[in-house]
Amino acid sequence: MATAVYSSMKVPELKDMLRARGIYISGKKTELIERLQLSDLSQCELKNQLKKFGLSQSGSVPDLVKRLQAHKNKTRETGSTLIDAVEIPQPQRSNPFKDPWPMMCRGCGQVVPNSEKMAHVDSCWFQDGQPNVYFMHAESRYWGGRFELLMAFPLGGSFKDIDMALRFTWMQCCNGHRSEMDIYSAQEIQNSLETGKQPKEVVMLNSRFIDGLQDLYPEKPMETPLQTYTEVGGRMFYAYDVFDETTIDIKTISLKCLKRPLYSPFDDFTRSKHILMRNELVEIPCFNCTSPCKFFGIPEMRWSEDDQVNNNNNGDDDDDDIKFFCSKPCGKSAGFRSPQLKPFLNSPRSGCCKYTGQNYF
Ligand SMILES: [Zn+2]
Ligand SMILES: [Zn+2]
Ligand SMILES: [Zn+2]
Repeated sequence: MATAVYSSMKVPELKDMLRARGIYISGKKTELIERLQLSDLSQCELKNQLKKFGLSQSGSVPDLVKRLQAHKNKTRETGSTLIDAVEIPQPQRSNPFKDPWPMMCRGCGQVVPNSEKMAHVDSCWFQDGQPNVYFMHAESRYWGGRFELLMAFPLGGSFKDIDMALRFTWMQCCNGHRSEMDIYSAQEIQNSLETGKQPKEVVMLNSRFIDGLQDLYPEKPMETPLQTYTEVGGRMFYAYDVFDETTIDIKTISLKCLKRPLYSPFDDFTRSKHILMRNELVEIPCFNCTSPCKFFGIPEMRWSEDDQVNNNNNGDDDDDDIKFFCSKPCGKSAGFRSPQLKPFLNSPRSGCCKYTGQNYF
């Protein structure tokens, strides 16, 4: 019988089935299920498995099941490789940040694979004609760059529009954090790609610009018009909250002509009108029990040092990495303390300040 069928049964029912097969009934539910699955195998299959592990093949079916399960438990404890003929639910440990996440279109509500986002946004939002918006892509510096937005800003807008769109969608944890933006020209980005040197910004913008201090801080206000510094191929480095920073890379992809207004009558006020597409949050299984994750934990020593997800981790069980859990008890059973477990939400701001995913506008 399939694992799912046994999993859906209650413990007394599982025990009744085991009793009927003359197999002992003590242990946890997962053990009962494993024992039932083993006893689903023919006597010949059981003997083959025992033979493979170099174990005695004598005795009745209940004896064979008992011996096989004891061996499996032992190999699980010692961590040796188990050639498993029986499907036992195991936490899935592959890296959820390895591949780009699907994107949801605010225009039509469709969710498309990440590789199709550009084709989709082109047909759903743009048409040929006189350009009226800057088309931009934003991605989180950390989290493997998996938090993504495709955005459009009217040519007459200001950098404050970008700031507000990011605050609306991803950032706002409470009131009062400062944001900054470094702007890089297309030429400077090109040079840095060719020479490997750090690009030098054209200008720095500050959401809390104070007029009269330009000699001290060579910055400009976030309200600076986009047209002053925005060019196709240029980039922006956005940072929100200098003490518990969340950082975003923004790229100006092209100038485009919208075929529908940025405002939709179906929009509610909690969403930014500048977002065309946004990543969907992929379901990440709990490290402990495989239920969908709601929290993440970072080993304490690394909290301030390097809190990014290791994007090159191809599913290796590295103890230094962020781990995801369905609940606080599951996190605690893996050795995390309650304050180390933060809510995991569809935002690169997850875990920072008091971020709860709520909008403040
Ligand atoms: Zn669409
Ligand atoms: Zn805050
Ligand atoms: Zn769990």
